[in-house]
Amino acid sequence: MVHALLISGEAGLGKWTLATALAAMLLCQEQDQSPCGHCRACLQMENLEHPDLVVLQKGVPISPDVKKPKSTIPVDDIREMIRLTSVHALEGDRHVVLIRHAEDLGREAQNALLKTLEEPPEGVFFLLTSIRTHELLPTIISRCRPLKLHPWGDDEVIRVLLERGIPNSRARQAAAAASGSFGTAIRISEDEEYWQFRDEVLQDFMNCPSRSDILRNSSRWKDRKEDADAVFTILEGVLHQLMQQTYHLAEAVPEDLCPRAWQKFASRAETADYIKLLDGILLARKRVASAVNFQAVVEQVILMLMEAVHS
Ligand SMILES: [Zn+2]
Repeated sequence: MVHALLISGEAGLGKWTLATALAAMLLCQEQDQSPCGHCRACLQMENLEHPDLVVLQKGVPISPDVKKPKSTIPVDDIREMIRLTSVHALEGDRHVVLIRHAEDLGREAQNALLKTLEEPPEGVFFLLTSIRTHELLPTIISRCRPLKLHPWGDDEVIRVLLERGIPNSRARQAAAAASGSFGTAIRISEDEEYWQFRDEVLQDFMNCPSRSDILRNSSRWKDRKEDADAVFTILEGVLHQLMQQTYHLAEAVPEDLCPRAWQKFASRAETADYIKLLDGILLARKRVASAVNFQAVVEQVILMLMEAVHS
C-alpha cells in the first residue's frame, strides 16, 4: 500500500465508498486484503469514528481554532491533522487520513499538506478523493498514486438497480439518465419527484397534439427558467434512447415512459432527424443562457418536436 492515494473521477462513481473501505482495510485488526467487518476497528469505522482516523472535509472542521464551518478545508485543519498523526497510534501501528473532495483544500492548506506528503511520517496513510483534480497543486498530485474511477456501463448500473428492487423499465431509464454514475442512477430511480417531473416534461414537450396547444403547454413553463437544464437533459436522454432503438442497440423504450407517437418516429427516423433535434435543443440551451424569454424558447422546442413526430 502506497502512503498517499488520490482517487479521482466524476461525482457518484463511488470514490468516497472506496476510500472509506480502504481506510477500514488499513485499520482492521485482522490485517487482511479486505476489512473483516466485525473487529473493534471495523465497527468503529462504520461511523468513521476510529481514534486513529482523521477525516478532513469541507464544513466539518476538526481544529479547535476553526470556530465555524468554512467554504474550504482550512489550513488549521491540516495543522490539527499533523498534530493528531504525529503521536503514537492509539489502537494499532498506523494513522489513516481521509480527505474528501481534496479540491476543497484552500491554497494555504494545500501547501501545508504538500509539505507533509513530501516527507510523509512513518505509518500515516493518506487517502484523497477529488472530482476536480485540476484545482489541486500539481505537486500534490505527483506525490500521490493516482486511481481514476471511470463511469460504469449501463448494463452494470441496471443490474445494481434491479438488485435494489427497482422495476425494470425505471432501472433502464435511470441508467440512461445517469451516464455511468451509480450514485446518480440510484438517486434518480428512488426519487418520485424526478419521475413526476419527467412525466410533466414528456407530456408538455413531446405529446403536444396540435399547434393550437403549444401556447397552453408553454405557458406552464414560463416562470420555470431554473428548470431549463433539467428539461433539456431529459429530452436529450429520451432522444438518445430512441436513437438506440432505431439502430437496434437497445430494446424499445417502454410505452409508459415515452409517448407512442415517438415509438413510431424511432422506427422510421434517420440519423439526420436526430441530429436536427439534438441541435435544436443545444440551440435552445444557448438561447436560455443568453437570457431570451424562456417561454419563447419552450414554444420553439415544442414546435420542433411536434413537427418531427408528425411529419
Ligand atoms: Zn476488522
